[in-house]
Amino acid sequence: MTTTPARLTVLAGPTAVGKGTVSADVRTRYPEVWLSVSATTRPPRPGEVEGVHYHFVSVDEFDRMVENGDLLEWAVVHGRNRYGTPREPVERRLAAGEPALLEIDLQGARQVRASMPDAHFVFLAPPSFAELERRLVGRGTEDAEERERRLATARVELAAESEFDTVIVNDDVHRATDELVRVMGIATR
Ligand code: 5GP
Repeated sequence: MTTTPARLTVLAGPTAVGKGTVSADVRTRYPEVWLSVSATTRPPRPGEVEGVHYHFVSVDEFDRMVENGDLLEWAVVHGRNRYGTPREPVERRLAAGEPALLEIDLQGARQVRASMPDAHFVFLAPPSFAELERRLVGRGTEDAEERERRLATARVELAAESEFDTVIVNDDVHRATDELVRVMGIATR
């Protein structure tokens, strides 16, 4: 058996590729994997739980976190809401020698690479752009203008694949999750 030193794994990829679905699958099937809970100024969607899916904060609270240096990275995503990774829980986890997982956008991943170059960067890719478009429309949680905005972001983000250490194609959620977990050095079941 090989042992992998505990380190940070960053999962990024284009919008609607299924990062959220893969994270949810990690939570359900591999509860031993520690997943960072981001702060966001976006309002909760139905079913989202404070402290589990996100920390839902006001713009003022987010500003304060940025000013205090409390965020490892942060970005305005889709030209709209702000999202960021609280620094302290991640550092505590890594200091304890335990692996940590971030699911963030590409801008955030680039910031983490600048500050933590030893992290492992994983790009979750769609099987094709047509499939990505289908998923984006199929989700039905955004209006037409928002969908267009997200597709435009996705086109730019897809081009970033080569910046990443590992590419995982999200053709099947369980399979993609298992591949991610293995990349983190955790045994799959
Ligand atoms: P959603 O609003 O659909 O939950 O997420 C929108 C986007 O924000 C997704 O691409 C997600 O990966 C990204 N995101 C979530 N949390 C963070 C974070 O802490 N930092 C950054 N940079 N992006 C995040």
